[in-house]
Amino acid sequence: MAVRSLHILGSPVLRQKALPVVVDDEVRRLVDDLFETMHAARGVGLAANQVGVARRVAVVDIGSDDPGPLVLINPVIVSRSAETDSAEEGCLSIPEVFGEVERNVSVVVAALDRDGRPWQAELHGYKARAVQHEIDHLDGVLFLDHLSAVKRGLLVAKWKRSRKGKTGHVKEVTPEPAGEL
Ligand SMILES: [Zn+2]
Repeated sequence: MAVRSLHILGSPVLRQKALPVVVDDEVRRLVDDLFETMHAARGVGLAANQVGVARRVAVVDIGSDDPGPLVLINPVIVSRSAETDSAEEGCLSIPEVFGEVERNVSVVVAALDRDGRPWQAELHGYKARAVQHEIDHLDGVLFLDHLSAVKRGLLVAKWKRSRKGKTGHVKEVTPEPAGEL
């Protein structure tokens, strides 16, 4: 397993529609690396586009069980609740920028797991939100796209200021040091 570099706002791969995969050793390695990179970056979800790979593979781990960490390979949202709610979201590809995003409260998602076996589950709340955010990534969509033009403009301006003239759209992830025990 390896921690991969993150692609951040401005990297073209974040705007690409990712292609479906056949589950093989390379895809399994990608899944493992996504988990390792996400945990190192203290994220709760990560899509392959974010490590520069335009393939339909993503992971979600919001740190709860029932269900536990999710492997989303070729995921599809089968149905969405009519009910929506709004909550603050961030993105490892747009560090230090947060915005209120309206999402469906629950979704039924179908995908393949790490072994290529199909699974389907109804997800609610934060987990449903995280899955919608990650599947958006696979379609080249960022959370900013769900905001009003005015709000998006403000956040992009904030993002540019935070960059302080830095160029380049790939960022190394420095894993947190291991726990003290
Ligand atoms: Zn994101």
